Amino acid sequence: MAKRHTKEEKTALLLAAGFTVQVVCEGNNNPAQRWTTPDGRTGAIEFAWRELRTLQNVSRETRDADVSRETSGREFHTALVTQIRKAGDKLPNLLLETFHTYNVAYFDERLDVPCVLITNPASPRALGDYTSRDEHGIESRIRIRPSLTKMGLRYIEHVLLHEMVHAWCHEVEQSEERSYKGHGPVFTAKCNEISKHLGLDLVEVSVKGRHGKPDSARWPMSAFPTEEAAVKYYGNVPKQKTTSAKELGPKLSKAIESHKHTIDLDDALQAVFAALAERTDDPAELVQAIERQLSELEETSA
Ligand SMILES: [Zn+2]
Repeated sequence: MAKRHTKEEKTALLLAAGFTVQVVCEGNNNPAQRWTTPDGRTGAIEFAWRELRTLQNVSRETRDADVSRETSGREFHTALVTQIRKAGDKLPNLLLETFHTYNVAYFDERLDVPCVLITNPASPRALGDYTSRDEHGIESRIRIRPSLTKMGLRYIEHVLLHEMVHAWCHEVEQSEERSYKGHGPVFTAKCNEISKHLGLDLVEVSVKGRHGKPDSARWPMSAFPTEEAAVKYYGNVPKQKTTSAKELGPKLSKAIESHKHTIDLDDALQAVFAALAERTDDPAELVQAIERQLSELEETSA
């Protein structure tokens, strides 16, 4: 469990780390503290403490010693956080705040300095992804699909929360559940623990028979009691569509049918494959992509 510091301890640690404090008198003559970070930003002690946690990774002290972690380095994460604070857009800055809020509320502040990138995940179907170590040696990396901005901030925050549960499984539980593609019993138990705070339904391990419960692989979106509740929470955003062969089939054959006199079948199939590579997460957009590919083909063969 993470150690809770008293205000006096926090003050001492902040001063030791190069933060400065000023006592300012507000309108009602109540003295208040204004902290300044080493790079010149100011705020209350909670703000300064959060900054210190991020930049110096003090949460490491509270965790069990782990040799691989000691040598892995979070320098990249620290540099990334500094860069985002200095020059990043609004969204990555908001997500850093959200990471801290969730870390305190649901993870006992045990998750390490974040590495949250707004960039496409590996799978074209995924909303985000998590890797415990990527090819550059970057540990505990979260990626969030940029196009999700159209779904609204609350939706993106929930993608982040999902990926933070993966980080919890790796960093704290030391169980990545690879045989479950990450969504095993450990992952699911943590989702359900958080769901109780959020008033969401319980979820079940995705590859098992789900006992009628929703799938943890799509938690927390899958855990809303009704679709209306989800739409109400996330705002009036377009519904998340999943690719369904049933829906896709007729539209696809219609698209190919309309080009059959000008394009031979082999070429048409190549166009379909090209469109699939380009777009697979939304049936409507997929059909549009296929139609575009077919039209291009028609122009070049005409
Ligand atoms: Zn996942």
